[in-house]
Amino acid sequence: MTKKIESILNQEEFTKSDLIQLMKIEDKEDLELLFKKAYEIKSKYVGRKVYYRGLIEISNRCIKNCNYCGIRRDNKKVERFSMSKDEIMKSVKWIYENNYASLALQSGERQDKEFVDFIEDLIKEIKTLSNGKLGITLSLGEQSKETYQRWFDAGAHRYLLRIESTNLDIYNKLHPMDNKHTFEVRKRCLEYLREIGYQVGTGVMIGLPNQTEEDLVNDILFYKEMDIDMIGMGPYILHRDTPLGKEWENVVRSEEKRVELGLKMIAITRILLKDVNIAATTALQGLDPNGREKGLLAGANILMPTATALEHKGKYLLYDNKPGIKDSVEKAKEDMDKKVKSIGDEIVYGAWGDSLHFKNK
Ligand code: SAM
Ligand code: SF4
Repeated sequence: MTKKIESILNQEEFTKSDLIQLMKIEDKEDLELLFKKAYEIKSKYVGRKVYYRGLIEISNRCIKNCNYCGIRRDNKKVERFSMSKDEIMKSVKWIYENNYASLALQSGERQDKEFVDFIEDLIKEIKTLSNGKLGITLSLGEQSKETYQRWFDAGAHRYLLRIESTNLDIYNKLHPMDNKHTFEVRKRCLEYLREIGYQVGTGVMIGLPNQTEEDLVNDILFYKEMDIDMIGMGPYILHRDTPLGKEWENVVRSEEKRVELGLKMIAITRILLKDVNIAATTALQGLDPNGREKGLLAGANILMPTATALEHKGKYLLYDNKPGIKDSVEKAKEDMDKKVKSIGDEIVYGAWGDSLHFKNK
C-alpha cells in the first residue's frame, strides 16, 4: 500500500477518490507518511509556529438542545452559571498579561437582547483594557446578521461556528428540529459572517456512528467550497446525560479510532487547504493524553488553552471526562508550553496569528 499512498501524497491536485483513500489509511507506515506530508505543508505555508487563544467559557446557559451536548437546554442535571463581567475581565487580564494576544469567548447559545448587549459591551471593554491589542474570537452560536454586525463593529474579528456534519442525515440526527435548528440556517450564518468581514471558522465532530470516510472528505470539501479561514474540529465524545450519549454508548467507535480519524482529518485538511489555521482541540486531548501534540504534528497550528475560572470549569462539560477541569490556568499554560516545545514548534507570543488564508485573499 505504501507506494500507492506515496504517489497520491506527491500529487499537486487531489480527486475526491484520492482524499477518500487517504482518509481510509490504517497501515501505520502510511499514517506516518500522511502526517509527515501534512507537517511539511504546515512548515512551508504557516511555519512551525503555534498561536494560543485563551479560551473563556463564559456561560453554560443554552437555548438549544443539541442531542450530543452535555450543556443542552434539557439536561436538568447541569448546574447553570454565567460569569459576571468582572469575572470575565479577570480572565481577560490574565490572558493579556501572559501575552497570548488572542482570546476566544465561548458559551451556550442565547439570542436575547440582554445577552447581545452584554457581549457587545464586553468586547468594547476588552478592546479598551488591551489598547486594542487583544484579538477576539467569538464562538457564541447562531445569531441574526445584525447581531454579528454589532459584535464585529465592537471589535471582534473572528467567529467559530461549526457545521458539525455536512451529511444531512447525521446533521438532523444531531439536532432536534425545534428552534429552526437546520443545516440551511447554520450555513447561512457562515455566509453572514463572511459578508460582514469576519475571519470565518467552522468544523465538524469526527467519528460519529454511521459517519463514513466519504462523509468526512465531504466535510473538508465543504471547508474549501466555503473558503473557510479557520478550522476547529475534534472527535465526538459521549456525554451520558444526552439522548445520543445513551443511544450510541455501545456503537461508538473506539477512542483510539476516533483519535486516529481526528488526526487524519487535520492532516488531510492541511494538505488540501494549506494556509488555513487549524486548531488541535481539547476533545482530541480528551481521548488521548498526547492528543494535542499529535494534532500539531499532523498539521494543526492553533491551541486554545482554557482560561475559564477554576470554579466554573467543572460546569462547562460538553462531554464526559473533559480533561484539565481541576487545573488552574497557570498549570494549563505550563503543561501546554512544555508539550509544544517537546515537539520543536515555536510558541508565538504577542502576535494575533491571524489566518494567512484570510490575509492571502
Ligand atoms: N453554543 C455554541 C455552538 O454550539 O456553536 C458554542 C459552544 S459549543 C459547546 C462548541 C462546540 O462543542 C460545538 O460546536 C460542538 O462541536 C462541540 N461539542 C459539544 N458537545 C460535544 C461532544 N459531546 N463531543 C465533542 N464535541 C462536542
Ligand atoms: Fe448549546 Fe452549543 Fe451545546 Fe448545542 S453545542 S447545546 S448550541 S452549547
